[in-house]
Amino acid sequence: MVRVYLIKRIINGYKYLSSKCYIPAFCFGGVGLLIGTIWILSDLSDSPEHLTLHEIFDQGIHEQGRMPNDYPQVNAPSPPRSVSWYSPLARQCSGIDRDLQLKLLAARLNQATQRETVVIDKTNFGERYHFDGYGRRLDPTPRVVVIHETVYSLSSALNTFQTPNPLDEDQVSYHTLIGLDGRIVDLVDPLKRAYGAGYSAFLGEWAITNLRFKGSINNFALHVSLETPASGRTFKTSHSGYTDPQYDSLSFVLSDWMERFKIPPAAITTHRHVDLGGERNDPRSFAWWKLQSRLAALGDLCVSLTPESAVN
Ligand SMILES: [Zn+2]
Repeated sequence: MVRVYLIKRIINGYKYLSSKCYIPAFCFGGVGLLIGTIWILSDLSDSPEHLTLHEIFDQGIHEQGRMPNDYPQVNAPSPPRSVSWYSPLARQCSGIDRDLQLKLLAARLNQATQRETVVIDKTNFGERYHFDGYGRRLDPTPRVVVIHETVYSLSSALNTFQTPNPLDEDQVSYHTLIGLDGRIVDLVDPLKRAYGAGYSAFLGEWAITNLRFKGSINNFALHVSLETPASGRTFKTSHSGYTDPQYDSLSFVLSDWMERFKIPPAAITTHRHVDLGGERNDPRSFAWWKLQSRLAALGDLCVSLTPESAVN
């Protein structure tokens, strides 16, 4: 760890000198430090830590210059329970609804051009962490998809995400929203961390990235939310359900993520399942059979549902 410690010190020094670059001597000092950093990194392949330059910068930025000895010297708490997820999605290679398949394949071409991106406030999302609050390595690769509902209208949700929320506990977002009319709105790059779930775990896994809070799945999750119908804008346990265009669009979003990140069908779950606070029950009135028929029509369910260790 000595070499990594030294590199971090150099990076912090470089950041300081760069901030004073209006003074020529500090500029030259900064350049010298950068050259020194590159020289040390050229020999880094011999290091047992095998950290890349990106990871070291990433760690330095997110942990605000924290050094290895600065981490709390205590054992990190484990998730309180590991609940198995029995996916309602089933493997399906035959019995495809051909009419639905033709409709989806045509609609998929259109959604590729009609899909829109809305910029939300930068306080409501962040980078995925490579280290947790205890200095342990994290795998930030997206590997679980969480389905939500908005409870309120899509425009209300957008307004919330575009509002600056300086307090950590108020920050919220999804990667993608789907309106009642099937409109797909991308809010957060899948490579970044959306704040879709608070206290949560999936198959006994969470990440504690902020020591002020309990663990969460956000660091390795993708969040997609369905606009709630008018009948559901209450706290009742059910409502009239989602529209067919919403299920169509959901299947497109999920199909893209499954392909891009090699996510198995069994890793598509709900906020209700991953929530550990006992406060979330969304998405209410979700018809898994409608998602099943669409993903099967797109060819995404003729695969092993639980490859490797996807499900305990
Ligand atoms: Zn939710």
